[in-house]
Amino acid sequence: MDLNQIRENVGRILSDIPDHVTLMAAAKKRSKEEIDAAVKSGVTVIGGNYVKETLKVHDTYGGKVAWHLIGHLQRNKVKKAVELFDMIETLDSYRLAKEIDRKAAAINKVMPVLIEVNSGEESGKYGVMPGEVKDFAKDVSSFNNIEVRGLMTMGPFSVDPEESRPFFIRTRKIFEDIKGCSIRNVKMDFLSMGMSNSYKVAIEEGANIVRIGTFLFGSRSDL
Ligand SMILES: *Cc1c(COP(=O)(O)O)cnc(C)c1O
Repeated sequence: MDLNQIRENVGRILSDIPDHVTLMAAAKKRSKEEIDAAVKSGVTVIGGNYVKETLKVHDTYGGKVAWHLIGHLQRNKVKKAVELFDMIETLDSYRLAKEIDRKAAAINKVMPVLIEVNSGEESGKYGVMPGEVKDFAKDVSSFNNIEVRGLMTMGPFSVDPEESRPFFIRTRKIFEDIKGCSIRNVKMDFLSMGMSNSYKVAIEEGANIVRIGTFLFGSRSDL
């Protein structure tokens, strides 16, 4: 997409969302130039879906930009992921947590993570089932090199954002519930929900990170 158009899109969405909400640019399949244009216009968090793809475009931008992993993480990619990313938003199993803890300990890092919630309880989708998130948070709180910072959800895709609302509400309730439990080593600061078509509804339901690709960079089918 035209770089000026990207700058315009970033400016429009930044002025559209409240100050307490962070705009993440979901950058899968985007070029370094496109990502640079978004950063120059004020994007401070970039979402990468794959370790390999992120390695190609990763840039620290002088520490002004944070990289979040938003794609499913395989255990054999954990070492690189822990080095590259400032936050892993897709923690979805105890085995993965154990590996993240091990690899983070090896480089003396405490890895911030969000627990991915399968808010639609869809089979074949990643994420912890809603009824299990609290126990899962307690289980992973024992790892010294992982710090749980909140929750992330995708929810079942729908063209009508109103259909996403119940899944955002459901995730927010879990977020509040865990927050009220004061589990050691578990903080509920970040609620990452909403994409291009659903971010407004997600913000209404409590999201403070929205992950936006298409509305910033154009449709991926254009490529
Ligand atoms: C691609 C992606 C997004 C952004 O989706 P758009 O509809 O392009 O805004 C958000 N979250 C995740 C996990 C993604 O993979």
